Amino acid sequence: MAERLQKVMAQAGVASRRKSEELIAKGHVTVNGEVVKEMGLKVEPQDKIEVDGVPLTRENFVYYMLYKPRGVISAVSDDKGRQVVTDFLISVEERVYPVGRLDYDTSGLLLLTNDGDFANRLTHPSHEVEKTYVAKLEGVPYPKDLKPLQTGVKIDGRKTAPAKYRIISTDREKQTAIVELTIHEGRNHQVKKMFEAVGFSVQKLKREQYGQLTLAGLQPGQYRALSRREINALL
Ligand code: URA
Repeated sequence: MAERLQKVMAQAGVASRRKSEELIAKGHVTVNGEVVKEMGLKVEPQDKIEVDGVPLTRENFVYYMLYKPRGVISAVSDDKGRQVVTDFLISVEERVYPVGRLDYDTSGLLLLTNDGDFANRLTHPSHEVEKTYVAKLEGVPYPKDLKPLQTGVKIDGRKTAPAKYRIISTDREKQTAIVELTIHEGRNHQVKKMFEAVGFSVQKLKREQYGQLTLAGLQPGQYRALSRREINALL
């Protein structure tokens, strides 16, 4: 299938699409030995693409979701020898990496791919895919305590985008509550910081949903491939 040169470059992990366009415009890219500066050229799988003389390897793209257990790092390797998310994808031969991150102590739905363009697009701040988390909070909030989450709270000096929340249950004896929070940003430790901003610390956190995808049918540590339709629905 013929695809635009900048898309192919981005998928191969050269750079984002925009940066790839810059590389093309500046004459860094050749297709079958010819410098290409025009934008939007479509290339076929057999075309030989080079960036500054380095051939582009066009991989077979794969897309998975993993039910990440707690106590696992969202990385492909760890210098302290701790378990990483790719350890669970035992029958996957491609070099996949996580799309964004879940904290070490957070469990839940994590996407992994070797498609750099897909990963860049999903983690870009303008990409508004909804993510739903379930948090166990220390303390029992009244609905009014959490109301500021709806309009946005300040974390790291910047206001968050409007979010949706739902109190699922409360335990007055143990002084804990289970609250669902849906956001479409992906800032560092965002959910924990949002609850902290309204006075509650998170004891436990799980990502239950990513766009239309849920963890249905998976146990912690299990993974499955995404269908073409599921992949397209995320973009
Ligand atoms: N927000 C957090 O605080 N932690 C995560 O792992 C994901 C979202």
